[in-house]
Parts: sequence; structure tokens; C-alpha cells
Amino acid sequence: MKSHCKVVVIGGGIGGCSTLYHLTKEGWTDVVLVERNELTSGTTWHSAAQVTNFGAVQTMVGLKSHSIKLYKELAADPENPINYHHASGGIR
Ligand SMILES: Cc1cc2nc3c(=O)[nH]c(=O)nc-3n(C[C@H](O)[C@H](O)[C@H](O)COP(=O)(O)OP(=O)(O)OC[C@H]3O[C@@H](n4cnc5c(N)ncnc54)[C@H](O)[C@@H]3O)c2cc1C
Repeated sequence: MKSHCKVVVIGGGIGGCSTLYHLTKEGWTDVVLVERNELTSGTTWHSAAQVTNFGAVQTMVGLKSHSIKLYKELAADPENPINYHHASGGIR
């Protein structure tokens, strides 16, 4: 294992995995993710996995819209076979 790198992401939940994914998408290579258990075994494991597209804060709505677009792209990629169903709208 490397002893030095530019970025160390601690925690392999959705937050850490997303951070690592987006850094590498932006071309960062000297990055590592450290997870003490299994990836997504923390709070993320308990999530109902709903990605809503509404909210009171515009930043969060932008983040959610980005996520919905990304999950659709990943689901359509045969190299990343994930189940993702997106229905428009939501009620709370
Ligand atoms: C029952 C339930 C239902 C939910 N449903 C939804 C939903 O439908 N939609 C939604 O958007 N959100 C939902 N959430 C909220 C969502 O699950 C969390 O906001 C999200 O999973 C948090 O992700 P995270 O990466 O911040 O944390 P985590 O998933 O907890 O990841 C943190 C990781 O860090 C690791 N870690 C901690 N300390 C260290 C250390 N010192 N060294 C190495 N690794 C370490 C842990 O092992 C863990 O894997 C739900 C939450 C719960 C509990």
C-alpha cells in the first residue's frame, strides 16, 4: 500500500465513493480511499436508496439532479451494471 498520496478519502460510503469517483473523473490519479470495513457497509447500507429531485436548498437540488443524471448514465453502461429506476416527481 502507498504511504503517500495527494488525497486520502476516509470512508467508503456514498460520500467517500462519490468523492473518489469524481476526483478520478476529473483526472486525479494520486488518490486513495481508505475504508475500515467493507465499502458501503455504513449508513449507506441502510439507505432506502431514494434520490429525490426536490428540496428547499438550490445547492442540494443541483446535487440531486447531478446524481440522477449520473445514475442513469451508470445504469446504461454495461461495465457498471446497476439497477436504477427513476420515476419523475415524488411525494413526501
Ligand atoms: C434507514 C435509512 C434510510 C435512508 N434512506 C435514504 C434515502 O432513501 N435517500 C437518501 O438520499 N439518503 C437516505 N439515507 C441517508 C443516507 O443513507 C446517508 O446520508 C448516507 O448513506 C451517508 O453516507 P456517508 O458516505 O456520509 O456515510 P457512511 O455510509 O456511513 O460511510 C462512512 C464510511 O466511513 C467508514 N469509516 C468511518 N470511520 C472510518 C475510519 N476511521 N477509517 C476508515 N473508514 C472509516 C465507515 O465504515 C463507513 O463505511 C438513509 C439513512 C438511513 C439510516
